[in-house]
Amino acid sequence: MEDLKSHAIVKTHELALKGKNRPWFMRKLTDNLRTATKGAGVERVWQGQLFVGLTLTDESCWPEVKSRIKDVFGVAKFYKAYELPQDLDGLKSRIPQFLEGRSFNTFRITTNRADKRFPMTSEEVNRDLGAFVKDLTGAQVKLKDPELTLYVDIQVKGFLVYFDEVKAHGGLPVGVSGKVAVMLSGGIDSPVAAWQMMKRGCQAMFVHFHSYPLVDRTSMEKAAELVEHLTRHQYQSNLFMAPLGEIQKKIILTCPPSYRVVLYRRFMVRITEVLARRNRAKAIITGESCGQVASQTLENIAVVDQSAGMPILRPLIGHNKEEIVDMARKIGTFSTSILPDQDCCTLFVPKHPETKADLDTVLRLEETLSVEEMVRDAVENTERLHFASPEAAAPAR
Ligand code: ATP
Ligand code: MG
Repeated sequence: MEDLKSHAIVKTHELALKGKNRPWFMRKLTDNLRTATKGAGVERVWQGQLFVGLTLTDESCWPEVKSRIKDVFGVAKFYKAYELPQDLDGLKSRIPQFLEGRSFNTFRITTNRADKRFPMTSEEVNRDLGAFVKDLTGAQVKLKDPELTLYVDIQVKGFLVYFDEVKAHGGLPVGVSGKVAVMLSGGIDSPVAAWQMMKRGCQAMFVHFHSYPLVDRTSMEKAAELVEHLTRHQYQSNLFMAPLGEIQKKIILTCPPSYRVVLYRRFMVRITEVLARRNRAKAIITGESCGQVASQTLENIAVVDQSAGMPILRPLIGHNKEEIVDMARKIGTFSTSILPDQDCCTLFVPKHPETKADLDTVLRLEETLSVEEMVRDAVENTERLHFASPEAAAPAR
């Protein structure tokens, strides 16, 4: 059908975008789709009544456009649509070609009349086309759960006809929920936590702690690779590489081994919070899940939370490791996460860290440290890396 103009028709979950926020969500979704498809052969991105349309320069661009749209949060499903003149007989003459190679026993026609000047109502078009397809194929009309739904959208410029549904992630367009600061290790969990928050419309900035040069740069390289991968969902990312080594050296001088992990964490949170505030992020995200490792107990979570002046959100808190691994595979971060690395958290850590850290003890231990100065130094020595996706969307910098 190369002679017909083609479009991608993108739909959201009806319930996701309800009420007053809808126009702003749709604008954001439209902007994100425009960015995501830069350089992929899209001529124009436009808002229809119930969908966002992307006009393809030609049909051969579809595979690339399809793979880009799949990564855009807020998209529940989408279709490749053909544009035909506003002429029902003309459409009928095309239907055998549209349905070629498809077998189905039940179908429905779903018409939406955006151009109210069109002389027939949606219902009349449904009936007329329904009878035609029934005669042509012998299939029965079934309104609920048909095997094939043929959509006809009556636009001023013509009919848009589409039928093959591609499922996407749904969620909310990145940007509508504000910004969050993700504490990103090189491990399996935190990239999944980031992905989940991005799917809920949050723009993520990333903070990775490293103990270079006390250990090698492998965890930093993994963090960068993970951010590069995740950036396809939000187009621009900043990754802050924050040094923890000097802080760790000071902690081990005065604090007992069993309290080191919880103290490291409190410093990480403080540093993340400073970076978050500077970049207008409103919450801190971690990949912790309840009880997964000795340090992730309710007692330790409480002691870590006490060091933060903004919410710490843990989207994976109720997930099993197997579920998180499954998600990591699906979102494509698993293979990077399992590469061997030298993580800062493994440095100077005892075999048996405290699982029930006591806040008074922690506060007493921190009195032996110049906390503010240590945080300030780490922030000052933090490096920022910038990522853009697709390459064509990168601003001049
Ligand atoms: P992950 O798979 O995300 O590394 P984990 O199961 O290994 O998680 P921990 O090592 O206890 O758990 O880390 C808990 C959380 O603390 C991580 O999910 C991450 O959000 C944060 N975190 C741990 N190490 C780092 C680091 N080096 N840089 C930034 N954040 C970190
Ligand atoms: Mg880890």
